[in-house]
Amino acid sequence: MNTDRRKFLEKALKATVVTTVGVPVLFEAACASPTKVNAPSGTFQFAQVALPYAKEALEPSIDAMTMDIHYSKHHAAYVKNVNDAIAAENIAYQSEEEFFANASKLSAKAKNNSGGAWNHNFFWQVMKPGGSEFGGKVLEALNGTFGSVEKFKELFTAAAMSRFGSGWAWLVMDNGKLKIGSTANQDNPLMDTSDLKGKPLLGIDVWEHAYYLKYQNKRNEYVANWWKIVNWEEVSRRF
Ligand code: MN
Repeated sequence: MNTDRRKFLEKALKATVVTTVGVPVLFEAACASPTKVNAPSGTFQFAQVALPYAKEALEPSIDAMTMDIHYSKHHAAYVKNVNDAIAAENIAYQSEEEFFANASKLSAKAKNNSGGAWNHNFFWQVMKPGGSEFGGKVLEALNGTFGSVEKFKELFTAAAMSRFGSGWAWLVMDNGKLKIGSTANQDNPLMDTSDLKGKPLLGIDVWEHAYYLKYQNKRNEYVANWWKIVNWEEVSRRF
């Protein structure tokens, strides 16, 4: 091998080594860039509220087994699944409000399970063992908007009964006006995709899982008995 040939090979070898060393350096630089693959710290996640009463406390309107399965299985799954979606899809909204205001941009998994997580947290709080008396400003507003409390209950019940399949009926405040309506599946009035919009004051879950063990197909009986456990103090607080 002549000298020129050796020098050429030495140069080529050095170049190869530099290139080989250069690859991990570049790879490290890419990994350290601000574009992170994992969910950034501080990202909002959903949490399941503690039940504000015992699982048998809403009997006879809602039986203990229904409450147990509804809270421990259905609701817990919505919370787990939305948080899995937040991590897997790198969703970086910072609050429930921001999350639902962008519902139209969410995957089906993130949208359905975020609604399920929020709606049930809300639902447990607008019920109370034995129900409660209601009065004050919310009573005046219901009378003013719907004519009477009985008329309000009639319209709300009609919304709950006419929701075909699974969903929710709601009383909402929208731009200073009380409205009654319903949403399909786990949609809620905070979602930008919802026809019914506003701040929820009262809501009822009319999925079959909410009543079927005790009432089977008789949704009307479930809704009628549900009025006995509405927490009007909580409705007033949200008003
Ligand atoms: Mn439910």
